Amino acid sequence: MRRVAGSVLHLHRVRISNVFLLDGGPGDRWLVDTGFPLERGTLLGELRRAGIAPADLTGIVLTHRHSDHAGNARYLQERHGIRVHAHRADAEILEGRATTPRLTRRGGSHLARVLAEIENRFPVRLRVDRALDDGDAIGSLEVHWVPGHTEGSVFYRHAGTRTLLSGDTLVTAVPPLIIRRGFGLPYVTFSTDPARAIQSLAEFHGRGFGYENLLAGHGPPILGDARAQALRFLEREGVLQSGTQPSMSHVSQ
Ligand SMILES: [Zn+2]
Repeated sequence: MRRVAGSVLHLHRVRISNVFLLDGGPGDRWLVDTGFPLERGTLLGELRRAGIAPADLTGIVLTHRHSDHAGNARYLQERHGIRVHAHRADAEILEGRATTPRLTRRGGSHLARVLAEIENRFPVRLRVDRALDDGDAIGSLEVHWVPGHTEGSVFYRHAGTRTLLSGDTLVTAVPPLIIRRGFGLPYVTFSTDPARAIQSLAEFHGRGFGYENLLAGHGPPILGDARAQALRFLEREGVLQSGTQPSMSHVSQ
C-alpha cells in the first residue's frame, strides 16, 4: 500500500481495479471499493500492511456495483460485520429488487467482452446497510451521484485532502487492466448508459466542486492539479465547452 493524499492510502497490490483506504482514525476508516473476488487474499494482505484489521473499518463505500469493485464487500460484511454503503439505485440491483440490461455491446477488446459476460452471469448480490443519495455525507466523504456507467455510480469527494474518488465514471487508464494510461471516459462495453455518464461528468464539473487529487477506479492516482487536467481532457473530448467552466476562484472548497 502507498499513502497517496494525506489520510488516503492506495492498496496498490490489488490490481484489477483500485481500492483505497481513507484512514481518518477510529470512526472514520472507509474502504472505497473492495476489488474483484479473485483478489480477496491480496486485499486482506494490503489491509494488514496498513495496520488495519477488517473489524477496524468503519464501513465500505462502493463507487458502483460492478464485481471488480464490489466483489469482496459481501465477504467483509458477512465475515467481519462491516457495513456496506452504495447509492440507492445500485443498492436496488445489488439486492435483487431491480434489474439492469445485460452488457451486450460489441467492440472493445476480447478480454473486455469476456469480463462483460462474467458481469452478466455473476453479478454481485448483497444487502446494502445504508443506501446513499446525492448530497449525503458518509463520514468525511461527500456523495455525488453520477449515473450512467451504472445506475447508481457515485463520486466521493473528500474535502479534507481535496481528493475525488471517481470509480469508473472518470478513469486514468483504459480498463480492463491498464491498456493505456491517460484520462478516459467510462468504458462503453461496461456502461449501462454511456451518454448519461458523459452528461453526469459535465454536470459535476459544471457545478465547480474543487479537487486536486483524482483517485480513479482504474489507472494511476493523479496527485495535484487533477481537476485542471480533467477539465482539459473533458474539453478535448467535447464533454465540456472550453472557456465555460468556473474559474478556480469560484471553485467550492
Ligand atoms: Zn465498472
